[in-house]
Amino acid sequence: MEDLSCQELVELVTDYLEGALSPAQRARFDAHVAECPGCDTYVEQMRTTIALAGASADLESRPEVSGLLEAFRGWKRTRS
Ligand SMILES: [Zn+2]
Repeated sequence: MEDLSCQELVELVTDYLEGALSPAQRARFDAHVAECPGCDTYVEQMRTTIALAGASADLESRPEVSGLLEAFRGWKRTRS
């Protein structure tokens, strides 16, 4: 099975934090975070943001979450 890329991780992070990933996806996600300090930090930031927002449904439409997603996508683009 191929490793998850940083880009794929960004796309999956809200599903991950909602517990919506399949066990296989979740294992790949965890493996990537364990080896990628940038994504580790990002996932923690996102987890905190979502906890503070008290969010449940439709995370990506929330400005604080979508802003963080955009910031991370931009960050990865400038470093790839
Ligand atoms: Zn990464």
